[in-house]
Amino acid sequence: MQDKIETKLEILADAAKYDASCASGSAGKRSAGKGEKGIGSLTGGSGICHSFTPDGRCVSLLKILMTNYCIYDCHYCINRISSNVRRARFTVQEVVDLTINFYKRNYIEGLFLSSGIIKDPDYTMESMVKIAKSLRVDHHFKGYIHLKTIPNASPELQEEAGLYADRLSINIEMPTQKGLNTFAPEKNISDITGSMGRLRNKISEHKTSKTHTGKRLPRFAPGGQSTQMIVGADASDDKTILNSSVDLYQTHKLRRVYYSAFSPIPDASLILPLKPAPLIREHRLYQADWLLRFYDFSLDEILQGTKNNMLDMDHDPKLAWALRNRHLFPIDINKADKKLLLRIPGLGALTVQKIIKARKYCNLSWSDLTKMRVPLGKVKPFITASDYRPPAYLLDMESLGNQLKNTEQLDLFGRAV
Ligand code: SF4
Repeated sequence: MQDKIETKLEILADAAKYDASCASGSAGKRSAGKGEKGIGSLTGGSGICHSFTPDGRCVSLLKILMTNYCIYDCHYCINRISSNVRRARFTVQEVVDLTINFYKRNYIEGLFLSSGIIKDPDYTMESMVKIAKSLRVDHHFKGYIHLKTIPNASPELQEEAGLYADRLSINIEMPTQKGLNTFAPEKNISDITGSMGRLRNKISEHKTSKTHTGKRLPRFAPGGQSTQMIVGADASDDKTILNSSVDLYQTHKLRRVYYSAFSPIPDASLILPLKPAPLIREHRLYQADWLLRFYDFSLDEILQGTKNNMLDMDHDPKLAWALRNRHLFPIDINKADKKLLLRIPGLGALTVQKIIKARKYCNLSWSDLTKMRVPLGKVKPFITASDYRPPAYLLDMESLGNQLKNTEQLDLFGRAV
């Protein structure tokens, strides 16, 4: 029996690795105790992935599919009905037991559960809801639960899922209906965004409304919604992809859009590209997404001057914008407003906050910036301080662009992204 579960875990954890919504990684370091074997033995790391919370914390999740059987035939998916792949299916009880066992052993802090579609969307969604409900109600499970919502499942089931899950997600997969028609003919973009819209309303209702007796409504997907787009399987350019993301963030209040560079799968459909999409493209899309969400950039600014509506692969989007707008630099860090400070390559949002706070008391000098751990090598072509101006050789845009090829953009916390 245990062997059977291990085999299922091996198949269904492997099948889940194609979902980018949480960064996959082996948990090989957590080796099993001496002589220990069986479920939870992490020597192979099956099913454990690391995911990052918005505040930068790393959490371990059991990341699995309930089943990799699927009645749909999405060309980019290894689990599609026409794929010749080893299949497996967990029962509701098996997923519950596996999660609880791993959780009690401190191997995981939560569950990331997705599934192929068996019988029909409602049947599948109902089983996934049963798993989440059993964990919360029967086992008082307090860990994190991320449920992939099944497209076309009934609104009632999707809404019930939100009562037990911390985060819900539904993959949009392609930024246009044309792309879906070609690669996922059973999927429809308006059904997907319709589900997102309903969940957005429910999330907001549960946050703000009260019952007629004045009590707060129960928690409903407090971690919000996310989605995933495949990059490079169809011909969509970066502008189309990012336009779709902007709409998802603004209209449907998504917390995250994940980008997944297409990579050829075993037993691939003949209509797919033969080569993988470059990972640098996925990386640049994440960087542009970051600028849109936290750095007050508009999409037009990010794409200004780019070729063929594609992001510059040589420079991160913030640096590329700065190089195209060299006339705005160098920026005086003692006078510039927050929006302009956020445009300086090398300055993360938290560093900008520190600068704004510190300059209330004195004019900031080069050594003040050193003490604040500002990455001076990166900012020096773009700033002035009380005792610093960039030398002439750093003001020549073309040579600067060549020198700074493939340097990194910083995230909210000042780390490279
Ligand atoms: S519905 Fe999901 S699991 Fe099924 S083929 Fe499409 S992407 Fe794969």
